[in-house]
Amino acid sequence: MNALRERVAAFLQRLFDRLDKLLGRKPQPTGDERILCDTCKYDYGGACTRPERPNATSCPDYKSARR
Ligand code: SF4
Repeated sequence: MNALRERVAAFLQRLFDRLDKLLGRKPQPTGDERILCDTCKYDYGGACTRPERPNATSCPDYKSARR
């Protein structure tokens, strides 16, 4: 049962990652999962109150701090 649950979770993660990519909601993955908060423009003070912070690997509000 756990194996089935893990496969379904992996499938859903890939599905949502592709949807995010199609909608341009996050940068292209560069390989291994990375912590988005490390390069997010909202990662300071009280700018972000999402529970995923500071270890988000997927986030619909991510905006690159780079110009
Ligand atoms: S918006 Fe998302 S990626 Fe940015 S700091 Fe908040 S949780 Fe992290």
